[in-house]
Amino acid sequence: MVKETKFYDALGVPPTASDAQLKSAYKKAALRYHPDKNADNPEAAEKFKEMSHAYEILSDPQKRSLYDQMGEEGLENGGMGGGMGAEDLFAQFFGGGGAFGGMFGGGMRDTGPKKARTIHHVHKVNLEDIYRGKVSKLALQKSVICSGCDGRGGKEGAVKSCSGCNGTGMKTMMRQMGPMIQRFQTVCSDCNGEGEMIREKDRCKKCNGKKTVVERKVLHVHVDKGVRNGHKVEFRGDGDQMPGVMPGDVVFEIEQKPHPRFQRKGDDLFYHAEIDLLTALGGGTINIEHLDDRWVTVSIAPGEVITPGKIKVIRGQGMPSYRHHDHGNLYIQFDVKFPEPNQLQNLNLLEQVLPPRMKQPQPPADSMVEDFDLEEVDASEGSQARAQGATQMMDEDDDDVPPGAERVQCASQ
Ligand SMILES: [Zn+2]
Ligand SMILES: [Zn+2]
Repeated sequence: MVKETKFYDALGVPPTASDAQLKSAYKKAALRYHPDKNADNPEAAEKFKEMSHAYEILSDPQKRSLYDQMGEEGLENGGMGGGMGAEDLFAQFFGGGGAFGGMFGGGMRDTGPKKARTIHHVHKVNLEDIYRGKVSKLALQKSVICSGCDGRGGKEGAVKSCSGCNGTGMKTMMRQMGPMIQRFQTVCSDCNGEGEMIREKDRCKKCNGKKTVVERKVLHVHVDKGVRNGHKVEFRGDGDQMPGVMPGDVVFEIEQKPHPRFQRKGDDLFYHAEIDLLTALGGGTINIEHLDDRWVTVSIAPGEVITPGKIKVIRGQGMPSYRHHDHGNLYIQFDVKFPEPNQLQNLNLLEQVLPPRMKQPQPPADSMVEDFDLEEVDASEGSQARAQGATQMMDEDDDDVPPGAERVQCASQ
């Protein structure tokens, strides 16, 4: 039970009103009674002042609890009767200094009641689950308002505003420093900065006076088909509860785990297929295990000739598009595995199959011609040579983008 209801009446809400209800009641009344809108109505101006003051008190958890317990008189005795003017509060609430100008200009900066911290959690998901979509049940530990004491910390009326600090939790101290007196703020030692005191025997047994208890809560996180890495799934108001502030939010950030077979770029999948030289030249079949228990079979026609690094595409076999019905593409890059030196037989048969040898530039008849043998290079020489070669290749391969990838990017712009 509250001692008096005058402030609640001014806003037209019951004393049990939540912070959100108070806030919306103030918003409505402030817009209706603001002097800018009621130039020749002194009653409205009075009403505006009254309800602004009421909201200022009730939106402050400390002041509200003091008012609930001891009424307006208690606030005045506690040194909390004064406060900012109605216009200041209005400006703070709706943002900007110019009251209606700032507000109707779209500057709805919300400086309403405080909110408990947001709980962030990274939810790691494998690519299979993103391909198919799923609902993850995730449990979290959060603070909830103690049901044993309704968040008061003790029996009704047992919680007293700390007289040492007037319920602010801070004390102003003075210290003589030579000729000067220094004033400084310090945490109130009577109440340990809590701003209120509960006698030991009146403390709530369930929360031991802490006002909140820790509870396990299971949230159902929807991992939608095709959701992007880094996407955030928000649960507003499902986070920590604290007396006098709005409950916090819970945010899950979807993090896609690396996949052993596929790389994902947007809605497209990339796959490395290793094929042997015989398949690259003479054709064959490759099988790819997809993300939904299906196997994708790809035929390479004889004589198609897959060169090392070649990229081909299977359209529509990539990831499902987030919140759309289409799919990206599956790009396959081929690594051609050449035979080992001792694996070759009947080499002369190649002459029947492969095109003839390329013509070498021929030295003029009068040139001096020397014969050389090639040697193997050792490891360190090899890495140098490769580095050289790689640099050159990168210079040349600027436009080495799979043709489809470029198309997809353009299409989505
Ligand atoms: Zn309790
Ligand atoms: Zn105190």
